[in-house]
Amino acid sequence: MQAAGLLPEDRELVDGVIAGQRRALAKVITLIESTRHDHQARAAAVLDALLPHTGRALRIGLTGVPGVGKSTFIEAFGLHLIAQGLKVAVLAIDPSSSRSGGSILGDKTRMERLAQQEAAFIRPSPSSGTLGGVAEKTREALLACEAAGFDVVIVETVGVGQSETVVAGMTDVFVLLQLPNAGDDLQAIKKGIMELADLVIYNKADLDAAAAERACLQMRSALALLHASSPHWRPPVMPTSALHGQGIDKVWQTLLDYRAAMTACGEFAEKRRHQALDWMWSLIDAGLRHRFREHPAVQATLPDITQAVTAGVVSPTAGAHRLLNLMNRYF
Ligand code: GDP
Repeated sequence: MQAAGLLPEDRELVDGVIAGQRRALAKVITLIESTRHDHQARAAAVLDALLPHTGRALRIGLTGVPGVGKSTFIEAFGLHLIAQGLKVAVLAIDPSSSRSGGSILGDKTRMERLAQQEAAFIRPSPSSGTLGGVAEKTREALLACEAAGFDVVIVETVGVGQSETVVAGMTDVFVLLQLPNAGDDLQAIKKGIMELADLVIYNKADLDAAAAERACLQMRSALALLHASSPHWRPPVMPTSALHGQGIDKVWQTLLDYRAAMTACGEFAEKRRHQALDWMWSLIDAGLRHRFREHPAVQATLPDITQAVTAGVVSPTAGAHRLLNLMNRYF
């Protein structure tokens, strides 16, 4: 979306966000999430104006199966950070919300104590759209939170499908929450998700400390067999009890160590540069696909070619070439 000039009321919003006003931030995110064309143009202009004020937060991705204790953990963790004078924003990507129409991560009763804090901002997942669309809006919301001066932005997702990769692709550090006592079925997490993790936490350690310790040991050996994502960081594995606030300080210290180690070797900034380019390319991909589908010549020919391909008269390759060639004239 082309960034238009900033409307006077949007200038006020921008100033409000930069001054750290949560109301202005909430309004900007509503604008970002709107599907209306004029709102999207305004959101693009607002984001452009906010961009120079972004980049200073630690962006934390967090995942785990429902019931592992994500909201309990985020609340304890967030309150710990606020006690140290930091500001914490929590965003969520919940791919199930677009299917069911209601977001489990949007439940108002979650993180009630954290939500009451002046230094906290909690925003549920955008409730409609594809995972790609939701991710794009969450990325933009993350930048708006940074511009509003939040020191830590947590992007939470339920451990299903592709959303972990999407969250890891927009955050500096990715945290995986696990249950120590889950049976093998629940325990069997996908290798791909383990590879994304920069830190693995076994929550609910208070229920069975010995089991948590065993689970940590097993995970450490499993991680040692995986290809390390960085030569400068071996993902630590640690127990917590979010319910009793145990191990939370150690998690924060570990995340600070991570940032220090990654900054020292240059990987922190490098990862963000990669993410920015990946983001740009995913928008280009989406934009091209959109233009393709909107193209009059494509629209006129698509039904025939679709039918011919499904009938086996035209090969998928030939069909794709024919359709793509229709666009050539206009590029
Ligand atoms: P989420 O679905 O991952 O967000 O999980 P919740 O934070 O809603 O937690 C699910 C349940 O586990 C709630 O009843 C929590 O009180 C409980 N819970 C969360 N963390 C702990 C913990 O560290 N120890 C114990 N014993 N219970 C916990």
